[in-house]
Amino acid sequence: MGFFFSSSSSSSFVFFFLAFLQLFSIVNGRNLTHSSFTPFNHDLYHSSRFIAKEIKGLVVRHPDRLRMETMRAQNKGYNAEVLVVTYNRARKDVNDSSKFRILLSFGQHGRELITSELALRLLSSLSEEKSIPNVDLSSLNNILEKIVLKVVPMENLNGRKRVEAGDLCERRNGRGVDLNRNWSVDWGKKEKDYDPHEENPGTAPFSEPETQIMRKLSKSFDPHIWVTVHSGMEALFMPYDHKNTTPDGLATHVMKSMLNDVNRLHCKDRCLVGSGGGSVGYLAHGTATDYMYDVMKVPMAFTFEVSKTGLLIALTQVSCMVALILFLPLFADIWGQRGINEGLF
Ligand SMILES: [Zn+2]
Repeated sequence: MGFFFSSSSSSSFVFFFLAFLQLFSIVNGRNLTHSSFTPFNHDLYHSSRFIAKEIKGLVVRHPDRLRMETMRAQNKGYNAEVLVVTYNRARKDVNDSSKFRILLSFGQHGRELITSELALRLLSSLSEEKSIPNVDLSSLNNILEKIVLKVVPMENLNGRKRVEAGDLCERRNGRGVDLNRNWSVDWGKKEKDYDPHEENPGTAPFSEPETQIMRKLSKSFDPHIWVTVHSGMEALFMPYDHKNTTPDGLATHVMKSMLNDVNRLHCKDRCLVGSGGGSVGYLAHGTATDYMYDVMKVPMAFTFEVSKTGLLIALTQVSCMVALILFLPLFADIWGQRGINEGLF
């Protein structure tokens, strides 16, 4: 949702020159003399290729808990692929179908590079190769064995590649569509300040292969929790994005309570909490979170916005993700209400 790109670091001219040469080698056919060209900051962010390689390494080293697949789709000659990593600590005495399912997506907007760093850090932490601030992962084993987590580290790979090639402000996909406006709930409605460079919803709901892939993934996985992670603010949003209200009933109460607890305990009360539409300052139509809640009937659907103040601070928000897992036992009520996995915890 939000807006994030790095400002130039104070690195030396030599660094920028080398960075320029490096970019030159990965940029195909772009006009590098264009005045708006700005180098991708390799001091702050890894390339998509590096992130994919690191994740593959984790999967190879931890086959007991991680596996990965690549989902592909195309529309009118435009191709997209989405890497999906599954965390599941399989044990013979625990029935996988009874596990709690969480779907996390990062990098839906190309320029929000930091979110994919967070995905990599989360997977590294769940593999116990990296620690999480203030969290002892081994103490969570009992809970971690009861969840299946699917992580999409770079939902908008084509858009991200455009950013890596120098279009640092690009948030849309590889052909200019905002993937968080391409879902069917209230699709295509335009506010007075509509800007196609930011919010182009596409030619129809699900016109974009990336959105088709995410819909297919959510249908087959049928998650209990959905979180799409964006950057530019410190916020924990719940439905709705397209109107200035939250849903009725117990679901709302439970989601709000959970977000307030996570905010207090893990975000030092800095985060905005509430409906996306009511809190972010504008209404968003055709978003993933509204679709997950309204159509897919995901009991808890969220949009997290991580900090714009720097990579290190944002990485600590891995603890927000883990907090989500820690707070699961509080929500037995809602699962029971919806007839899902009652008594799991
Ligand atoms: Zn965003």
